[in-house]
Amino acid sequence: MNIKKLQFIILFLFLPILSIAQDHNCGTHQPNFTGKNMNKFQLHQIQELELFTQKWIAKNKNKASIREIITIPVVVHIVWNTPADNFTDLEIEAQIDALTADFRKMNENTTSIPASFQSLAADVEIEFCLATVYEGKETNGIVRKETSLTGIGNLYHSDNRRRICYDDLGGSSAWEPEDYINIWVGQLGLLGEATFPGMADTKYEDGVFIDPSAFGFFCSSSSNYVLGRTLTHEMGHFFNLYHIWGENGCTIDDLVMDTPMQNVSSSGCPLHPQVSCGSDDMFMNFMDYTDDRCMAMFTKGQKMRMLAALDTFPRESLKISDGCARSIIKNITLTPDDILLFPNPATDCIHIDLDLENDLPIRMAIYDTKGREIYSNHIFAKDLRTFNISNISNGIYFIYFESNGQVASKKLIIDK
Ligand SMILES: [Zn+2]
Repeated sequence: MNIKKLQFIILFLFLPILSIAQDHNCGTHQPNFTGKNMNKFQLHQIQELELFTQKWIAKNKNKASIREIITIPVVVHIVWNTPADNFTDLEIEAQIDALTADFRKMNENTTSIPASFQSLAADVEIEFCLATVYEGKETNGIVRKETSLTGIGNLYHSDNRRRICYDDLGGSSAWEPEDYINIWVGQLGLLGEATFPGMADTKYEDGVFIDPSAFGFFCSSSSNYVLGRTLTHEMGHFFNLYHIWGENGCTIDDLVMDTPMQNVSSSGCPLHPQVSCGSDDMFMNFMDYTDDRCMAMFTKGQKMRMLAALDTFPRESLKISDGCARSIIKNITLTPDDILLFPNPATDCIHIDLDLENDLPIRMAIYDTKGREIYSNHIFAKDLRTFNISNISNGIYFIYFESNGQVASKKLIIDK
């Protein structure tokens, strides 16, 4: 073990006072080792969690790549104040797909990871599904509530309950946190926030909070936070990841062995290499503050921390939740209804998710209205794929999927 890191872990475990880190990007209450505002119970919790995490990693270090995929049900609570805060079902599905793609290393920009970091990039082997079952009934995993309260994400009732987490306070009540990850989307004044394992004031406020301005996957480079990576970053905190720079300076970092020590947070979209603390910064890590289009990876060390978190209370039961049990048998034939094509009309890229139980390669092709093939590729039904279409001109197209003799198509409009 790296001596500096060992010293840090020891320092961390015995420091009596922790504080709360907040800034304009991320409001997650990350223990940051130098301040105050954390009670004895929380301090004890976080120390216990870190001891468990380090032991778990030592015990399981050889098992990083032979695990099974874990699928975790999520519920998205859209608590909207203005119509701009509301999202369509398709937009929400595409955001959850994008989250899974980032965790499965299926994101569209893995090629942007510098060569020196490529071998560290991890398939975390966690997937997320919008819940399909709640209290025995079918659901689409989406709850919508209109609220008259502006900035509801950071409003608290006089009894200290966080309003967005309760029906009777103008928000949307949590689904059982043992079985579902609750994701609240409402005005926050920050991009996002999440609770570390065991750190929520009550389990009904345990989850992830995203501002509408940073929610969704919109296949566009017109804004810094439209590729859904605020949710990826916050989900990292939910599974016990710290910001990659730890605390400012070159002594305290993120408790992960394979991420370089980094002096401060990054921003915008830097060019590699950026050097601090004597090594190249991993500014393309999901736990930095770079723009969505420049974030591309979790490391294997971060993966181990997240898997360890999934063996702790209250996260462990998420692994065996049946919240995504299918009450309908999955499709084995290809029909247009099984094709999620988003956005449509499209500008820069399209995101494809096929709801199909099929391990055969699927040929995908885009034709123009004169029947000319513009683009073709092969994908698999389980892939979540984003295709760059920025070099295809405006117009109406047909996108075909062909598998095992079956063909299904959808109309695609490109309008830049
Ligand atoms: Zn953060």
